[in-house]
Amino acid sequence: MESYRERIAKAKESLKTTDFPSQVVVESTAFCDFKCPACPSPILERARGFIEPQLFRKIIDEIAQENPGTELWFAFMGEALLWKGLFSIIRYAKDKGLRKTYLNTNGNILTPRLHQSIHESGLELRDRDDPSQGRCDPRLLA
Ligand code: SF4
Repeated sequence: MESYRERIAKAKESLKTTDFPSQVVVESTAFCDFKCPACPSPILERARGFIEPQLFRKIIDEIAQENPGTELWFAFMGEALLWKGLFSIIRYAKDKGLRKTYLNTNGNILTPRLHQSIHESGLELRDRDDPSQGRCDPRLLA
């Protein structure tokens, strides 16, 4: 079995420099409706808020211009579904030609209606247990 040092060394070897990030993670909000024990979010000391849509659009515009294949994530430290601007910004990203948009959510407030809004925004919700699936769980629409 590989040691952590060996695994880290292997990971370092696989690193490559790119002109533009291959992944951009945006914190739509730092608010969260959960207090998971392994997460630093509940004890966050910095200010919490919601991102300004104008700033998010600027980020998306830059990704679209530099590399539309860059992965864009809509959540970092917080629950993105709590941000009312989420669906229009996902739609904006899709309309700008971003090909890889991802949302991770705790799903606590996910209703069939919200799920439908995610669908209509152009985002695909992945099943955490089956990342290759790449589509919404039809049970959520029932
Ligand atoms: S749902 Fe996510 S952001 Fe919220 S406390 Fe749990 S791990 Fe942290």
